[in-house]
Amino acid sequence: TAGIAARTASAEVDLAAFRRNVRRLHDHVGDVSIMVVVKADGYGHGMINCAAAARAAGAAWVGTATPTEALALRASGDRGRLLCWLYGPDEDLEPVVAADIDLTVHSPEQLASVVAAAAAIKTTARVQLKVDTGLSRNGSPMRDWPDLCAEAADAERAGAVAVTGIWSHFAAADEPGHPSVARQQQAFAEALTVSQQAGLTPEVRHLANSAGAITLPEARYDLVRLGIGCYGIEPVPGQAVAAGLELEPVMTLRAQLVNVKPLAAGEGVSYGHTWIADHDTVVGLVPLGYGDGIPVHASNRAEVQVGGRRAPIRGRVCMDQFVVDLGPDAEDQIGDEVIIFSGADRGPTAQDWAQACDTIGYEIVTRIGARVPRRIV
Ligand code: PLP
Repeated sequence: TAGIAARTASAEVDLAAFRRNVRRLHDHVGDVSIMVVVKADGYGHGMINCAAAARAAGAAWVGTATPTEALALRASGDRGRLLCWLYGPDEDLEPVVAADIDLTVHSPEQLASVVAAAAAIKTTARVQLKVDTGLSRNGSPMRDWPDLCAEAADAERAGAVAVTGIWSHFAAADEPGHPSVARQQQAFAEALTVSQQAGLTPEVRHLANSAGAITLPEARYDLVRLGIGCYGIEPVPGQAVAAGLELEPVMTLRAQLVNVKPLAAGEGVSYGHTWIADHDTVVGLVPLGYGDGIPVHASNRAEVQVGGRRAPIRGRVCMDQFVVDLGPDAEDQIGDEVIIFSGADRGPTAQDWAQACDTIGYEIVTRIGARVPRRIV
């Protein structure tokens, strides 16, 4: 393939750890169903493997952003319940309806598209209505919600759709005490009352992502949608641990040192010489760069692990490579292992990288690119 050789660099994906995380989260939320979210190639971990692992760990539902992702899961042999929630006005919905995938609907136009697709293939489409309780992305505005519920109830009576779910999404469940959290819970409760009055009796009502599922028992309803926690990244550092929940990082990004050489005091490193050695040292070259999802913002900020100790990035991260400082007394050799991120005992975590790069753990793992081979361990 056109990627990096697996010996040179790879993202190891520990599916057993993934399954343990899913089971622990499921135990933690108690008697509700779980949906494991595997969009964006399983947050960079491999969508199809993660979905299969989620099913093995008891996930009745798997969630994706796009219909195309959900169709790929069906094509892989996944026979369980699937929900997707992001598509454009020109999407071909017939194969999605034919594949028994639950489609999220948030407007009369989307409802009409799904009804038309169901009619074209003479079946009943499964739809889940989404209400915007305060995130201001997709979802029916509260003022339009009664009409959408009424139209969906009509379509259900006509046999065009089955309304299987009603849901919404938090804006700040990862910020305990954020005023939007209570407001959204209140709005969701009102939206459910409206849907009942319209005669809708959905199988599942759901609101919480990982952070909501971990910290807000009253927001769990029938189902929680778990993404980041399954990949072993705490939505908020320390939050899962405080709730008695131990999550294990699933991805280890590793590489080999492809060069090691001395650097004299006064010499500059990488484009723009944004770092200049103030003493003699030894530098190593890591064969990953922003073309593989290593943030340029990690330049002179993040650290890797080499030979059991931390080595800081020096100079600017390039497209395919970056330089680390191994220290003046380094005896590391070309070919030695570099852990870019992993569990806390094996090197920095994705969360450490997120903090160093002013971003979120989600972005660190999701951006690891297609050039990096995934190795299931
Ligand atoms: N539900 C929806 C609609 C999402 O878009 C996502 C991911 O952002 C999730 C649930 C899972 O969220 P998290 O990864 O924070 O658990």
